[in-house]
Amino acid sequence: MEPRLPKVHLISRPALDWPAIDRYLASVGAPNWVQAAAEHPAPDGQRLVELMGRICYRSWSPGLNPNVSRVRTDHDAYLANILDSGHGSVLEHANYTFIFQDVSRVLTHELVRHRAGVAVSQESLRYVRLEDIPFDHPEYVRQNPELLEAAQRLLAEMERFQVLSAELTGIGEDGVSFHAKKAITSAARRYAPEGVLTTIGWTVNVRALRHVIALRTAPGAEDEIRALFGQVAALMRAELPGLFSDFTPQEDGSWIPAHPKV
Ligand SMILES: Cc1cc2nc3c(=O)[nH]c(=O)nc-3n(C[C@H](O)[C@H](O)[C@H](O)COP(=O)(O)OP(=O)(O)OC[C@H]3O[C@@H](n4cnc5c(N)ncnc54)[C@H](O)[C@@H]3O)c2cc1C
Repeated sequence: MEPRLPKVHLISRPALDWPAIDRYLASVGAPNWVQAAAEHPAPDGQRLVELMGRICYRSWSPGLNPNVSRVRTDHDAYLANILDSGHGSVLEHANYTFIFQDVSRVLTHELVRHRAGVAVSQESLRYVRLEDIPFDHPEYVRQNPELLEAAQRLLAEMERFQVLSAELTGIGEDGVSFHAKKAITSAARRYAPEGVLTTIGWTVNVRALRHVIALRTAPGAEDEIRALFGQVAALMRAELPGLFSDFTPQEDGSWIPAHPKV
């Protein structure tokens, strides 16, 4: 029996309004910056971080700020300096939205402990009635036929309970109020295992994401969340090389950043 890998869907990323940026820059005396940026394409998420950094020092070109006589013009060098100098707050402007599908409630419970820089929407077992119990057996159970059979019996019994609960309360019948359905559905979820698979929508800014990847791929983290954030790390390194290529994947599955705190 093969494990069901969590599916990672990256569904949203920053999109800059370049004409609006151009108008702003013309108004502060930096009319050529957008044109120069267009000649070196980079993901909007990276350009957004750069823009916010340059706002801080008015470093669009030398002399705009009398204190600044030289500016870094190379985009990648600019981002590398942001990471080096720990000016991580500008990374908070770039937000990415993921859907994590077929992850356990064990995983989502750990994920929602990350409070800073995130937004969460999780499929509700108060509203969504369980009939079958989607489940991915952990490796040690999959490898032991006796344990696997016992686990399957347990799950089958739990599924039978969900069906029986709906039958005996009649919540599937016509005319039952939504409130009654919700109350029974919510009560019945107590008889589902914490390993039941679910879906969660997660929006995160780049600063928070760097922290979570490092923490949740580390050897001490739980297997499922490590596997999930290993996928996220690989995806983000391809998506935003300027902000994630200092992460190096290790043989043990962890992703270690050159800049652990930005
Ligand atoms: C291997 C591992 C084992 C764990 N075991 C347990 C356990 O046994 N029991 C348990 O309850 N939890 C456990 N956790 C969860 C852990 O305690 C954190 O709640 C979780 O990892 C969220 O991380 P964070 O605190 O960095 O929060 P995030 O929200 O990701 O915060 C990011 C950073 O922002 C700063 N920050 C955020 N909020 C505040 C604040 N209120 N005040 C000051 N600074 C703040 C901190 O620098 C923080 O590191 C474990 C986590 C891991 C990775």
